[in-house]
Amino acid sequence: MSNPYWSDLVKSLDPYVPGEQPKMDNLVKLNTNENPFGPSPAVVDAIRARAGDNLRLYPPPESDALRETIAAYHGVDVAQVFVGNGSDEVLAHAFNAFFSGRDSDILFPDISYSFYPVYCQLYGIRYRQIPLAQNFSLALEDYPGANGGIIFPNPNAPTGMAVALAEIEALLQRNRDSVVIVDEAYVDFGADSAIALVDGYPNLLVVQTLSKSRSLAGLRVGYAIGGRGLVEALVRVKNSFNSYPLDQLAIAGAVASFADEAYFQQTRATIIANRESLNEALTARDFDVLPSAANFVFAAHRQQGGAVLAEALRQHGVIVRHFNKPRIDGFLRITVGTEEQQARLIAALDAILAG
Ligand SMILES: *Cc1c(COP(=O)(O)O)cnc(C)c1O
Repeated sequence: MSNPYWSDLVKSLDPYVPGEQPKMDNLVKLNTNENPFGPSPAVVDAIRARAGDNLRLYPPPESDALRETIAAYHGVDVAQVFVGNGSDEVLAHAFNAFFSGRDSDILFPDISYSFYPVYCQLYGIRYRQIPLAQNFSLALEDYPGANGGIIFPNPNAPTGMAVALAEIEALLQRNRDSVVIVDEAYVDFGADSAIALVDGYPNLLVVQTLSKSRSLAGLRVGYAIGGRGLVEALVRVKNSFNSYPLDQLAIAGAVASFADEAYFQQTRATIIANRESLNEALTARDFDVLPSAANFVFAAHRQQGGAVLAEALRQHGVIVRHFNKPRIDGFLRITVGTEEQQARLIAALDAILAG
C-alpha cells in the first residue's frame, strides 16, 4: 500500500472512512445522519436560478452575501463569520490555524468524531483523548490545565449526548490560553448553541453545518462563528489554500435555506418527534438507547452484538452504522428517518430478533 512517488507524509496517513453511499435502490439508508426530508423547495429554486446566471465568473471570494445572512440569523457581526466547503473543511482549517505547532497535546473525547485524529495526523498535531464518563457523558471537568487546544462535538457523535452550556462556559473560564472549538453539527436537534458565548470568550470557535438540520449534505456548506481574531486566522489559512471554496450554487442555496425558517422549524420538529418514537420502539425491543439530542440514536441490544445486528439489518435492506471500536462495538448508530423508514427498520429488527 505504498508507491515510490508518495511523500513520507502521505505514506503515514490513515484517512477518514466515510459511511458508505450504496447505489442500490429501495434501501433504508440510516447510516450517515443525512436528513430524510430534503432541503426547502426554495433552496432548489434559488440554485436553479443561479445556474442560469453567468457561471463563467469566479464566485465572491469571501462569500459576503452568505456570511451576512448567517451573521443576521445568529445575531453576530459579519466579521465573526467564516464559511467553508462543508464544516469538515472549516474544521481542517481550524486545526491548522489554531492547533498546529503547539507544545502541548490538544484534547478531545476518546469516543467522538473520528475525523479529529485524521486532521492531527495531516498537520502533525499532538493529541490526547480524554475518556467519556462510564455513562458516555462528556465530563468537561476532566479536561486538565495545560493543553494545545480543545475540541468536542455538542451533541457528541456518535453518542448523541449533549452537554449543558453552563459546563462549556465553566470550561472556558478555566481555559483561556488555548482555542476551544465546539463542533455543533447536530445542535439544532436539541442542544444549546455556544454562539451565545462567543462575545465573552475570544478563544471560542463554534462550528455548524447545513448538512444535517438543513438537509444540504450534498451542497457542502459549513461555517464557524467566533471572535474576529479567530475568523481572521481562518481567512488567512483559506487564502493560502483555495480562495474560492464556495461555488455560486452553494452560496445561493445556502442563503435561500436560511430564508425559509418555517420549513427548517417544521422538518426539525418532525425529526425530533421521530427520534422519540424510534427511541421507544428500540427500548421496547431490549435496546439500551443513550439519551440523544441529535438526528440519530446510539443503541446497544442487551443480547445481540452490534456487528451481527448491523449485518443482519443489511440483509434486510436496512443500512446503519457500526463502529468496530473498544467500548462502543455493541452499539448501532441509527439515523432518524421518516416514519416509513423507521417502520421498515423495526419490522426488520422484529424478524431478526424472532429468528
Ligand atoms: C457531519 C459532521 C460534520 C461534517 O459535516 P459537513 O458535511 O462536512 O459539514 C462535522 N462534525 C460532526 C461531528 C459531524 O457529524
